[in-house]
Amino acid sequence: MIFPWGLLQLGWAHLALQASAVQLTLEISALVIWNEIHFYINHRLLHTRWLKHFHLPHHRSIVTTPWSTYSFHPIEAIMLGNVIMLPMLVHDFSIYSLAAVPVFSIIFNNIGHSNYDFLPDAHHDRWWLNGARRHHLHHACFHGNYGFMFPFMDRLLNTALPPDAADKQIKRHVT
Ligand SMILES: [Zn+2]
Ligand SMILES: [Zn+2]
Repeated sequence: MIFPWGLLQLGWAHLALQASAVQLTLEISALVIWNEIHFYINHRLLHTRWLKHFHLPHHRSIVTTPWSTYSFHPIEAIMLGNVIMLPMLVHDFSIYSLAAVPVFSIIFNNIGHSNYDFLPDAHHDRWWLNGARRHHLHHACFHGNYGFMFPFMDRLLNTALPPDAADKQIKRHVT
């Protein structure tokens, strides 16, 4: 919150004061897509040798719960929390669109860490609500599925895990 406020104070960013419903819809859609790209890039960085140390607190949850959402290092919080800075520099957003980011982020995070398979049918793995299954696999396997709620970045960069990727780990705990 402090850094975006600083951008406004410095005059480097401005707010759109009278945004139409169409503009709000387009802005929020663009921010949802940008949030996914931004998360993927930062998450991949957090899995590098140099930054892994700051991401391991989050990976203490091998089986996730919505509380895992809140378990991360301050450095990770800074990296992921700066998501609206770059968009604010290139476009004058409505305050409502910017305020929507933490709202959809917390909703997506709760879905992603719910450890609940919304669509147990493996053939529907492309659907966005299966972010829960994809992120569960990320926590179970540690490598792969670095995306947040949508599968397109992992598909694009060839880091998607197959739906049965964690079967071995699960069996080890069941037997
Ligand atoms: Zn991770
Ligand atoms: Zn997670």
